[in-house]
Amino acid sequence: MEQKHIAILPILLALAFVAFKYLSADKFVNPETGSVRRVGMSNQEEQQLGLQAYQQTLQENSNNVIQSGPEYDGVTRVVRRLASAAMEHSKVQYQWRVSVIRSNEANAFCLPGGEIVVYTGILPITQNDAGLATVLGHEMGHATSRHGAERMFREQLTQTALTGVASGLGNMDPQQQQQVMVALGTGAKYGMSLPFSRDQESEADHVGLLYLARAGYDPHEAEAFWKRMDEHFGGKQPPQFASDHPSNGQRIQQIHNWMPEAEKEYAASKMRDAQGPTQNTGL
Ligand SMILES: [Zn+2]
Repeated sequence: MEQKHIAILPILLALAFVAFKYLSADKFVNPETGSVRRVGMSNQEEQQLGLQAYQQTLQENSNNVIQSGPEYDGVTRVVRRLASAAMEHSKVQYQWRVSVIRSNEANAFCLPGGEIVVYTGILPITQNDAGLATVLGHEMGHATSRHGAERMFREQLTQTALTGVASGLGNMDPQQQQQVMVALGTGAKYGMSLPFSRDQESEADHVGLLYLARAGYDPHEAEAFWKRMDEHFGGKQPPQFASDHPSNGQRIQQIHNWMPEAEKEYAASKMRDAQGPTQNTGL
């Protein structure tokens, strides 16, 4: 009878190491939603990575970066108001930057350090300032919620666990070994990374809605925007910025649930507008 199928020790060591890493990781409390997330790098590291990716994006698109005109003015106007709203409860000082790239691509993103890139192809879809603020509030919400750092942390843990299992399978025949790794890899992907990623999407929607309302845009416009998206792209391939996001129906329902909270922010922003200028974000 064959007895040396699996070596348990490397697996146990890897799991103990994963548990230790998990328990000793830095915790980030989201100032907007109160959620607690474990992150694998410091704010400073995130900002460095963000800035590098930003410079690379601008370099690759250097012929198409636009720095004046109505599209540029519209984007910077929205970002300025959102950045000020985002900083109200944040303990981290972001270096907000924004670039507009002429392109047919319907895309926009915000890097972990607060660097925002908007491709003009998204503007016919967002249609107005509130629509653009819906998309950008969501993207900025990913950055300020430190979702990149959390994702990195989860990937590291998954890799460590898989490495441990791989060495534990050393005595198995190669084909069987591969089957186990594929099963575990797939399990790790769909059991761990994906649901968390959906949860991050939903948190970015929540945070983005609060930013939008606090920035003085009617939060019902966010609902209207996603309904528009549903009508345009329902059943078809959505544009890139929405491709890994929850279904529009589910998202509209959630936005509806957060609406009372957003309406309070909106009312407070109207009071502030009546009182004087908002916080300077350096943009
Ligand atoms: Zn997202």
